[in-house]
Amino acid sequence: MTSTLVHNIGQLVTNDPQHDGSKLGLINEAALLIEDGVVAWAGPNADAPTHHIKHRFDAKGRAVIPGFVDSHTHMIFAGDRSAEFRARMLGETYGAGGIAHTVEKTRAASNQLLRSNAESLFQEAHSSGTTTIECKSGYGLSVEDERRSLEIAQNFTSETTFLGAHVVPVEYKRNPKDYVELVAGPMLDAVLPFAKWIDVFCDKGAFTVDDARTILKAGMAKGLLPRLHANQLHDGLGIRLGVELGAASVDHVSHVSEKDIEALSTSNTVATLLPGQSFQLARPIPMYAHFLKPALLLPLPPIAIQEVLTQQICPSSLQLRSEKCIFRQSKHYGRRLWVEQKRCDVKILDIFLKGHVPISRY
Ligand SMILES: [Zn+2]
Repeated sequence: MTSTLVHNIGQLVTNDPQHDGSKLGLINEAALLIEDGVVAWAGPNADAPTHHIKHRFDAKGRAVIPGFVDSHTHMIFAGDRSAEFRARMLGETYGAGGIAHTVEKTRAASNQLLRSNAESLFQEAHSSGTTTIECKSGYGLSVEDERRSLEIAQNFTSETTFLGAHVVPVEYKRNPKDYVELVAGPMLDAVLPFAKWIDVFCDKGAFTVDDARTILKAGMAKGLLPRLHANQLHDGLGIRLGVELGAASVDHVSHVSEKDIEALSTSNTVATLLPGQSFQLARPIPMYAHFLKPALLLPLPPIAIQEVLTQQICPSSLQLRSEKCIFRQSKHYGRRLWVEQKRCDVKILDIFLKGHVPISRY
């Protein structure tokens, strides 16, 4: 057994309310014992175990928080969309079609280029405090390009998601039903060794609810786990489809109705808000408050908030305290990715928390 004691922690976030009655479960002047990659003990520094410790790490008064979880990324791509960004800033509206440009560049890119681009993005995420990262395909949109995208992604994370149904590629624009058959058939078979999850962009301009159901069910029948892009651009039945299929998460959810809230409230599906993405697309930020004020007398739907950028956006735009951002970006990971919650992924900050999270390298 390997054991590591992190001691002299100025402030430790445990997400366990038993420590101080708050959701963050703060312990001041703390220590943390890790055994075989799992949290074995957390408590006051003065009570730290002293026997059978193989490694010691002195935190020198710094704060220690649970690693963040990013349950929604698209890291396997080439090219950039700066021209599209500029056009949006000049007033053009965003549609799902902007993805086509990245598809063209990704198809033309070598494996080496895709891998090195992904590597730098994963490193950047890790340096910002994210320790668990989901990664989707979705910029290949051919059997071979989706397969190699996921094979590359698997080098960086076990949370890989097949998103062949991102948009209909240009060569299938005249017969989109043929593309749905391709995704649910040969493409799905080709990616199975490299994918854990299956996802569909269910929205106007992308895939209909019926097509999304067909594709997700095909993936689930072959052992993949469902998640869904839903209600990003328009109202629709995407959220309720996610609930119907028992998806781990419905993502974006910028347009929600009371029926959507009601469906989520009685399910295990997590609504994942992506305010950072809305911010970048200059679209309305998903309203956290929508999920907190249903006049429905129902349990509140589980909500997660994605992206480290939200540490900047949430406190001001969503009136969400920094502490809640930390809680939602870490504690809720088990529900969004159905992964082991006792695993010890922590980040040592260069600061002392005190109610505000400065944005810097973690
Ligand atoms: Zn996405």
